[in-house]
Amino acid sequence: MRFTDHLYVHNLGKLKKIRTHGKRLAITSLILLVASSCLSLQREDEVASNISPNVEPTNTLTPSLTPTPTETPTPSLTPTATPTSTPTPTPTPTTEPILFTGDPIGATRREAEPSGRTRCGEVDTLDFPMDPPDAARFARGGRDFGVFRSRYDKYHAGEDWWKSGGVLGEPVYSIGNGRITYAQPNGWGRDKGVIIIEHIFNDGRKVLSFYGHLDEESFEVFYGECVARGQLLAKVGNPRTPPHLHFEMRTHAPDQTLGGYWDIDPTTAGWIWPSMRIWEERVRAQKGVRWVRPFENTGIEPIGRLPSGRFAILEDSTFISVDLETGRGVEFLTFLEEPTNAAISDGKLFVTQEDDVGLIYNFKENNLLDINPIGQFPTQPARNQLIPRPGGGVVIAAQDGLTGIDANGNRLWRVELNSQLLDTVTLNETIYISTIGDNEAIWQIPWRGAPESVIDFTGKLQASGQRVWVYGETGLHYLNLNDQTPNLQTVATYDEINLGRSSLTALGNGNVLLAHVDGNDQRLIVYDTENRRTWERSLRDLGRSNFTLANLMGSPYLVSESAASASSDLSLYELDIETDQLTKILEAGTRFAYPIDSWLYPLDTDSFLVNTGGGPMTLFDPKSAE
Ligand SMILES: [Zn+2]
Repeated sequence: MRFTDHLYVHNLGKLKKIRTHGKRLAITSLILLVASSCLSLQREDEVASNISPNVEPTNTLTPSLTPTPTETPTPSLTPTATPTSTPTPTPTPTTEPILFTGDPIGATRREAEPSGRTRCGEVDTLDFPMDPPDAARFARGGRDFGVFRSRYDKYHAGEDWWKSGGVLGEPVYSIGNGRITYAQPNGWGRDKGVIIIEHIFNDGRKVLSFYGHLDEESFEVFYGECVARGQLLAKVGNPRTPPHLHFEMRTHAPDQTLGGYWDIDPTTAGWIWPSMRIWEERVRAQKGVRWVRPFENTGIEPIGRLPSGRFAILEDSTFISVDLETGRGVEFLTFLEEPTNAAISDGKLFVTQEDDVGLIYNFKENNLLDINPIGQFPTQPARNQLIPRPGGGVVIAAQDGLTGIDANGNRLWRVELNSQLLDTVTLNETIYISTIGDNEAIWQIPWRGAPESVIDFTGKLQASGQRVWVYGETGLHYLNLNDQTPNLQTVATYDEINLGRSSLTALGNGNVLLAHVDGNDQRLIVYDTENRRTWERSLRDLGRSNFTLANLMGSPYLVSESAASASSDLSLYELDIETDQLTKILEAGTRFAYPIDSWLYPLDTDSFLVNTGGGPMTLFDPKSAE
């Protein structure tokens, strides 16, 4: 079971994460709490649970070391300042809209040209079989692949496509260029006609699409015929069940109907999750996409770079190291139960579980396939975040306090709290943490010292130059670090900020960029280091979205995530402040009605690792997308 959440961004070299799993609900509910208008909580049990791949554990947990914590005095809360307010006018909703450009999926479309491999042309991209290209009007359907139906005592080998109001007589289209390998108006007898199409990709891969419950009078295509993406095939007929399209994708049986159900998990017998595969191919075809890692499950989390240069992700209970050149992964560590958290700090992997012992693994010396913990550290069960400390070790940010752990697992200090982590940023080897709850505060943790509470105030954090920007529920502020005691200065005040849908990022010149959502409008705003609002454009044309800003090598990017009733969409935009343009450079989506565990991880290789919530993961190079 997982819960919806806002996409989050990892800062290069400074992990800034908001966990989204059920077990990490602490932070999720916290963001939802801040963002009263976030998408509604929704259980995900009905999707995908029966089609996870069987994972062969490569290593099971056998803790053997005993922790030896060292105690140091507990600092008490001593707020040192209160914000001084210098309000600037709230912007009016009349701000000029930003200019939108870019159509990364549209740019992949081209005429079907026959080649030596295929006389019917190769696949350029795939569209959806009803209401193409995006199935935007289909509020339902396209999300029941692999579900068990007790009526048949079998698993659904396809997706049923329908919408309220009915789909009898609705046109059905080819999802891509291909050749008809089966077309029988009576293929399913009383359950009507069936068409199967073979599609060939430019790398030689083949896939079949299957369309069932078609009206026998409406067939527009014949066996052996070439069809183009978006070509009309037939209309939805009137089977014994209420009219709908039964849509499959598979790698086997180009001329067999096979009944639409299978005794066991259909993915083990050559069926593919159709809408997942369509989105995967749509992403793969876009410029700048280096590789696509097919959807495996909804719970993929980024952990960080390993000393080998590979990238560690956590999929449920299994750590996988991904080759950033190819996207291929190797499982290197599997736990019996899903770890509650993990972080890489100075080449060591710190892992916490549902008990009070955390484990440390060393990647500097260990062979990836032979991993045993080199140490342990004291922790609290669940509900925590691990923040890498400059110089090694981690800070455990849990509901009941902050704990410093050194590189060998020793406890350095502990502060009791009743708060949750909201955000964290690292500047000049000092970690800044904002917490929310009974002890709402910003904490400063110097590399060699214990945490000090800087101020009783909280918000999302970003660091640039000598400033820690604080984006709170009432406006934008910064921590003035030049004075004897750090104090909070107010840059701008706003009404009704929806912090959960808003975001901030530091620009290369020390300025800060906001993707700001309030009761009036949603807009991009730049403030400079003189606290002036120097640029502002409305994002109202984007509709209701959650916004996340990221910075890759000094250039700003915006991610917008939106959800309709049966689909969610993730779009990455490049922002050019000089020309007031927001260019869409990557588009991904799912047939889930809500985003699940989406994230964006800027890499020092000038690329983003992008995980579409509940969809494919991709390495994306914005520069080669232009
Ligand atoms: Zn069906």
